[in-house]
Amino acid sequence: MINTNFEKLLLKYFNKTEHKCYKQDCNKIAIGSHAISRNISLASISVDGNMKYFKSKRSGKESKTLILDDIGMYEASKFQGFCLEHDGGFEFLGKNSYKYNVKQILMQCYRSICYSLFKIKPLADQFNNDSFDFVRELVMKPSVIETLLTEVVAESNDSIEVFTEKLGKDRTLIECLRGRLEELIDEEVLRFSYEYDKFYDLKQTLEQTLEILEETKTNEPLVKFESLSDPFGVGFFYKRIDMNIPVALLNQHLIDIRGNATFLFFTVIPYEDGTEIYWIFDNKYRHVFLNEWEKMLMNEIEIINRIESSMMHCEQWFIDPKVINRIPPERLKIITEDIYFIHERNPFKDYDLSIFDELRLNLLENLDEQKKLREKNKINSIATREPSHVRDKKLRESVLKSPSKIIERQIRQT
Ligand SMILES: [Zn+2]
Repeated sequence: MINTNFEKLLLKYFNKTEHKCYKQDCNKIAIGSHAISRNISLASISVDGNMKYFKSKRSGKESKTLILDDIGMYEASKFQGFCLEHDGGFEFLGKNSYKYNVKQILMQCYRSICYSLFKIKPLADQFNNDSFDFVRELVMKPSVIETLLTEVVAESNDSIEVFTEKLGKDRTLIECLRGRLEELIDEEVLRFSYEYDKFYDLKQTLEQTLEILEETKTNEPLVKFESLSDPFGVGFFYKRIDMNIPVALLNQHLIDIRGNATFLFFTVIPYEDGTEIYWIFDNKYRHVFLNEWEKMLMNEIEIINRIESSMMHCEQWFIDPKVINRIPPERLKIITEDIYFIHERNPFKDYDLSIFDELRLNLLENLDEQKKLREKNKINSIATREPSHVRDKKLRESVLKSPSKIIERQIRQT
């Protein structure tokens, strides 16, 4: 059932048959294409043509839950980003599980960014819509107002009883609350448009870089490269491992680096005989990401750990149903609830439950006793969580704080 402007807006956008090609100066209509290749990647993690993914579903009047559902390999990662001609530029990626030069890697980086751009566009478009209807809907919920009220009461140093009494008599307090709500709405609108602008800049830079590579015919060989040096402006790391990690992932994470908001694009591409991992980011923060990247590449279990953390922080991924079927129902229930409470986790910290049990068990042998125990606990221990209403409250409080706050400050500085 669709009953909000927000849902109507998304449905209209994603069902729209005509989207313009993302390639600069191309005015042709985009066809449906895959951000991760169907034949050599999605097919390798499908059972009867299907994968599992998290789909958001309305539950009750003002909340949503994420539920596990099936998705066919024709639909997974599909987006209307490029016209027939420009989609042809990705042909190599659909036929080869190995990359041989920088250009081929950058083509996948470019495709991943365009996918994220496509997903965020309907929200950013609201910046040009003065009514901000859907953002009002997102913000003006009884639960948010209640949280806001608690915040304003705390600032006033009054007890809730005294405050409520004052509220009845003092119009300026009501105005103050109203002002805070308007501020929140503006912040949200600003955040969506800021994210879109950042993604768009990255897309443009990658496009220019690819054009330069094309002109100079630089086919910098990849042999011996694990993390590429970056001569271009966009930072990226690339790694191919021989182990098959059965998930196709196109995530992006908003990261707070010492009070600065920035994005990390995390792409994982599975193949029958291996897995590719891509990180794409603002090169200004290269040293920070390099540190995390090197920690991840220390061993295969750390790679699994980082991918699981990313999966629990952003749900733009599709997984082999066999992995999900192996997880006991009690743990799967917790995972399904946890994915909603993203404020509780960080993409660089390990998630305390296992998703890839089989891979994890196979890798345990090479670990020291302490690490072995830690990894085993992700499979065997019974996780405890706070009651939902407590987690809900904390989630709402975190929405009122970061990371939109950081973005807001950043926009003011520039
Ligand atoms: Zn085109």
